[in-house]
Amino acid sequence: MLAPTARLTEFDTLPFWHEADLRGRMEWYRAVAANRLPAKFRICASLPAGVALDAPEDELWRALDAGTERFLALKEHIRTGAPLPGDCPRTSLLELIAELARRMLAHCNFCRWNCRVDRTRGEKLGACKLAAGTRVSSYFHHGGEELVYRGTHGSGTIFFTSCNMRCAFCQNGDISTDRLNGEEATARTLATMAWVLRLEGCHNINWVGGDPTIHLHSILEAIALLPGLEPSRDDLDAALSAKADRFAAFAPGREHMLFEGGFNAPMLWNSNFFMTDETMKLLRLTMDVWLPDFKFGPGRCAIELARTGWYWDTLTRNLLLLREWGEDFTIRHLIMPDHVECCTAPVLDWIATHMREAPVNIMDQYHPDNYCAPGDAKFMERYRPLARRPRREEILAAYRHARERGLRFESLSYERSKTGVML
Ligand code: SF4
Repeated sequence: MLAPTARLTEFDTLPFWHEADLRGRMEWYRAVAANRLPAKFRICASLPAGVALDAPEDELWRALDAGTERFLALKEHIRTGAPLPGDCPRTSLLELIAELARRMLAHCNFCRWNCRVDRTRGEKLGACKLAAGTRVSSYFHHGGEELVYRGTHGSGTIFFTSCNMRCAFCQNGDISTDRLNGEEATARTLATMAWVLRLEGCHNINWVGGDPTIHLHSILEAIALLPGLEPSRDDLDAALSAKADRFAAFAPGREHMLFEGGFNAPMLWNSNFFMTDETMKLLRLTMDVWLPDFKFGPGRCAIELARTGWYWDTLTRNLLLLREWGEDFTIRHLIMPDHVECCTAPVLDWIATHMREAPVNIMDQYHPDNYCAPGDAKFMERYRPLARRPRREEILAAYRHARERGLRFESLSYERSKTGVML
């Protein structure tokens, strides 16, 4: 088994960093993963909130805007070699971020449904059907993500229960459609899960579901606990029961998890990106790398297959924010049977027009699942056209389209190709 420091070096020097699709991209993520730079949450922990946390919510948002300016200036200094200041002795910007998510929970506008229900009371539920509690289906070293995320020791993936979309073909239907799946987890338990995954060598903490957006308050509270976290035996016991690979042999190593003596790990937002501006603002200060899932074209497919309105406008607006903010991200697009013309082509065209340099994974692993799987008790006849894998010619058409548009997709898409199809 590799020594912990060897894991860092090994990941940091893997050949994919020099591939054309990734060259010059993801440098912030790469440096944080290798502990050459602090994660964003560490920078936020070093800055003052600039407001008392019991102030009215609009004052908190104004303080966040001012704090964002200070954050960006400090991040740039640190990126170019300045040291990370110590943790702020007063209320920090990181605590303000967690408080804002708590305030949002009382009139929930985490995602574009903008349900405005008070999830702290739980008397009325929104589209995600969740009150304030958070459940984790499982967490583990994920060896199935893109190489840039799974590296040599896996992506530290935490799967949350439930979702705010209703994709008929969901490839994680057991998690996304069953809100009671998994185990209840407090913010401290979530923080301990992240701590354990990083201690064991994971290259990032991968917040995913279902969708993580609907658990925003718990995730941001967990991240706010990470600076200085030292889990107790009870914390570890609470966290380990949901760990899918708890009996696998990983060599824990504190050297792997530290930057200037404090916990460090890149935070990865792996989401359907159906989020509000407010959620994006909070995540901008806490996520080091983003993995948006861009599924549907601008027609009616999002409504018909996922019962989701405002899809195209919301996704494209949030992706444009990533570009405007200069964030590190890769985009996923799943090829669906009979949806190359209406979904794959316009999605790829939009990326080529607005962010041609963005690395894209055009995924060919669609399989009939959830309401689209004949033989499954949940199967619905109206989804019969989706009850097959994409044909070889559909996959080739998707790849050809991407190549003709000059997209950076080959290294991300081909290395995990299920069908071995490539141009
Ligand atoms: S997370 Fe989204 S779906 Fe759930 S209550 Fe909030 S706004 Fe509604």
